[in-house]
Amino acid sequence: MTSIPVLTPSIAATSLEAQIGNTPLIGFRRVTAHLPPHVQIFAKAEWHNPGGSVKDRAALNIIREAEASGQLTPNKIILDSTSGNTGIAYAMLGAAKGYRVKLFLPENASPERMKILRAYGVDLVFTDPLEGSDGAIEAVRALAAREPARYFYANQYNNPANWRAHYKTTGVEIWQQTQGLVTHFVAGLGTSGTLMGTGRRLRDYNPAVQIIALQPDLAFHGLEGLKHMPTAIKPGIYDETFADRQLSISTEAAYNMGRRLAREEGYLVGISAAAAMAGALQIAEALAEQGQSGLIVTLFPDNAYKYLSESFWTED
Ligand code: PMP
Repeated sequence: MTSIPVLTPSIAATSLEAQIGNTPLIGFRRVTAHLPPHVQIFAKAEWHNPGGSVKDRAALNIIREAEASGQLTPNKIILDSTSGNTGIAYAMLGAAKGYRVKLFLPENASPERMKILRAYGVDLVFTDPLEGSDGAIEAVRALAAREPARYFYANQYNNPANWRAHYKTTGVEIWQQTQGLVTHFVAGLGTSGTLMGTGRRLRDYNPAVQIIALQPDLAFHGLEGLKHMPTAIKPGIYDETFADRQLSISTEAAYNMGRRLAREEGYLVGISAAAAMAGALQIAEALAEQGQSGLIVTLFPDNAYKYLSESFWTED
């Protein structure tokens, strides 16, 4: 009998975890065509992560650090309040690693998100939409306090493992992919993990790198994933004195840039990614006007697939 060769999994298969990070750094042609050659913009294309967003990085490091410290053991349920990309990342990693996942979210979270979370087998608990994401946070805190032996409360807004994910990965990748030539880093603020972790790493490499934080211009906005910090609960991991500059971006400017990136560059990105590009362009145009050079890097948290029910895509 001839034996059939079998590839050992360690040779044949890349684990799901190993697919997180090392995302491409992309460039642009038309949207940046008015800039002089010495002012460049690049973006990290984070939808290349297996869960489809930058939050795979944070969720993976939150789980890994909790496993290492003994806070997360195989019998525990991963618990947090999120309707967004972090929830999807916990759901995916929970499935891959064998943990149950329970998420609290306001009842009005988008149907696309709920379907994705349900498909991964997550236990969803709905909170009053009138209380928004703060209502979901309070409900989770109460449950975690009541049953600490049953749940691991991942707590992305206050858990330093969130920003350390970007310190260990995103910042290192940007430095290497730009061969140390990056001069500015622009990122939107949600939990602030991306900005704080990537920014700290880039400043370690070169203290002159300018860190620019981007926020919605108004409390009521359409920039999903981003927070208007003056009116939001301040994340524990956020230091508002950290960034060199703050930019505010209108929802309309982001929608407009989203359409342009799709139609002129072939990148169908999420709304916060479009906002990030609008911010990066503001920085680039100011440098060009002053006759300065710069290599600006921003980060595109996800692509548009979860936001296609929004009507602005075809409104122009
Ligand atoms: N954009 C999107 C679409 C997001 O899901 C998030 C995470 N909430 C962000 C931006 C902001 O990232 P961070 O939490 O690292 O500040």
